[in-house]
Amino acid sequence: MAKIPHRLYLTEEQMPKQWYNLRADMKELPDPMLDPRTFKPATEAELYPVFCEKLAHQEMDDATRYVDIPEEIQEFYKMYRPSPLIRAYNLEKALKTPARIYYKYEGNNTSGSHKLNSAIAQAYYAKEQGLKGLTTETGAGQWGTALAEACSYYHLPLTVYMVKCSYEQKPFRKSIIQTFDAQIIPSPSMTTEVGRRILAEDPDTTGSLGCAISEAVEKAVTTEGYKYVLGSVLNQVLLHQSVIGLESKTAMEMLDEYPDIVVGCAGGGSNLGGLIAPFMQDKLLGKADPRIVAVEPASCPSLTRGRYAYDFCDTGKVTPLAKMYTLGCEYIPSANHAGGLRYHGMSPILSKLYHDGYMEAVSYEQSKVFEAAVLFAKQETILPAPESAHAIKGAIDEAIRCRESGEAKTILFGLTGTGYFDMNAYSAYLDGTMTDYIPTDAELEQAFAKLPKIPGIQ
Ligand SMILES: *Cc1c(COP(=O)(O)O)cnc(C)c1O
Repeated sequence: MAKIPHRLYLTEEQMPKQWYNLRADMKELPDPMLDPRTFKPATEAELYPVFCEKLAHQEMDDATRYVDIPEEIQEFYKMYRPSPLIRAYNLEKALKTPARIYYKYEGNNTSGSHKLNSAIAQAYYAKEQGLKGLTTETGAGQWGTALAEACSYYHLPLTVYMVKCSYEQKPFRKSIIQTFDAQIIPSPSMTTEVGRRILAEDPDTTGSLGCAISEAVEKAVTTEGYKYVLGSVLNQVLLHQSVIGLESKTAMEMLDEYPDIVVGCAGGGSNLGGLIAPFMQDKLLGKADPRIVAVEPASCPSLTRGRYAYDFCDTGKVTPLAKMYTLGCEYIPSANHAGGLRYHGMSPILSKLYHDGYMEAVSYEQSKVFEAAVLFAKQETILPAPESAHAIKGAIDEAIRCRESGEAKTILFGLTGTGYFDMNAYSAYLDGTMTDYIPTDAELEQAFAKLPKIPGIQ
């Protein structure tokens, strides 16, 4: 057989024309979202004040297996997709493993991550519905950048509330977001009632994601024609991210390959849900049985140590309740450098699949993750985002297991983004000041005790 190329790109014709909705093939569906006031299942129409109508429909649609990608979105995807499927020859050699390691690299766009795949879809539907603008929050900044890029394409005004400490730590994120004409406001701010209240109580606060969400939601509901959008966790976001997995599967088929193990990092679950989608479909339909491994930070271990329970999706407690693996919406993870993985909950779809035994999960301390990141950068000449490096660490450990057992397995992992915006984190690792934090059981119990009480359910 001819040698497998280092990088495989699909042609434009081979790119997916439909997203794949994993829920259509699940044996049991995730439990429904609940209205936090009535504890009744939320209806599609009840989501309209928050989401665009088409997105609310995608959120609730458990039945449509394949959803056409609007042609305009397909055209936009062609500006930065297909993303390459890369064979990690050098990493394999360095690990002396018989395993074949592949990764799908999503860092080749200005946001530096996979987030643009959903941002462009959300902006498209907002424009189509005639909305006047969008609001969102951003922690690490990748989502804010991706959405700014997408909104700028559709000339849609965007206000991004960025957690104040990240805003100050990452001045270049601000510049990129401003390049795309979005307004960026450090949160808490004087532009909303909730922001003014929080500042009055604590003028020196550095902000939190929960607070930024509360401001973004207030801004959306008090500005005519505006809606609020989210970049992970939701079913609609996993749907859009299925392009990652669909492209990967086609590319692997061209190489006559099929993964024995699929590994991805898990924050809110969107890249992992997208990467595994067509492979999980095979598993659900009994066509193949790949192992699926989620990798999370030891400092924010929602799958490995969380509760499977109804919880708010945000710290501000304004969203519907979702049944998911959660650390409790009031849980504030330590200041880990993988900002994109510091989320208290996990996609309800992935939570259900994990609960039903279709997936595994592991967690690692950040110093181990950066060790893997540096090894990977040297072998593969891509400096990975700290979030993505969790998947690298997971894949490396699987490859080492293959070395020990002598099995030549095929491993596929998702490399979600570039680490160029995270050089402070690399500096901390390289100068030895990085510390690892693992929450105690008592700390987690404290957060679990504050999970919402739902009569007859929990
Ligand atoms: C946001 C982000 C993640 C985590 O988000 P998911 O929704 O779990 O995919 C991972 N990697 C990068 C580079 C990110 O920006």
